[in-house]
Amino acid sequence: MDLCQIHVDRCKGCELCVEFCPKHALEMSEGRNAAGYHPAVLAHPDLCNGCALCAEMCPETGIEIYRRQKRARQDATDQG
Ligand code: SF4
Ligand code: SF4
Repeated sequence: MDLCQIHVDRCKGCELCVEFCPKHALEMSEGRNAAGYHPAVLAHPDLCNGCALCAEMCPETGIEIYRRQKRARQDATDQG
C-alpha cells in the first residue's frame, strides 16, 4: 500500500499538493475526475516518504497518509 492516498473524486485540481511535495512524488493527471477536474495522482510512490505535507495543504481534505506502523499492522493482518 502507498503511504499517500489521494481521493481522486475529492480533488479540485488546485495543484497545491504537487507544488509543496518535497519529493516531487505527485503530478497532475491528464484525465478528469467525476467533477471534471484534473486530479493529482501519486505518480512516483517510490519517492514518497509519508511526510504528510500534501495532506496538510489540501483544501479538500482529499489526501490521507498511512503511517509505516499502520502499514506494518495491515501487512500482518493480510498475512493472517
Ligand atoms: S506525503 Fe510528502 S512525500 Fe509523500 S506525496 Fe505527500 S508531500 Fe510528497
Ligand atoms: S491539494 Fe487536494 S485539491 Fe489540490 S490538487 Fe492536491 S489533492 Fe487536489
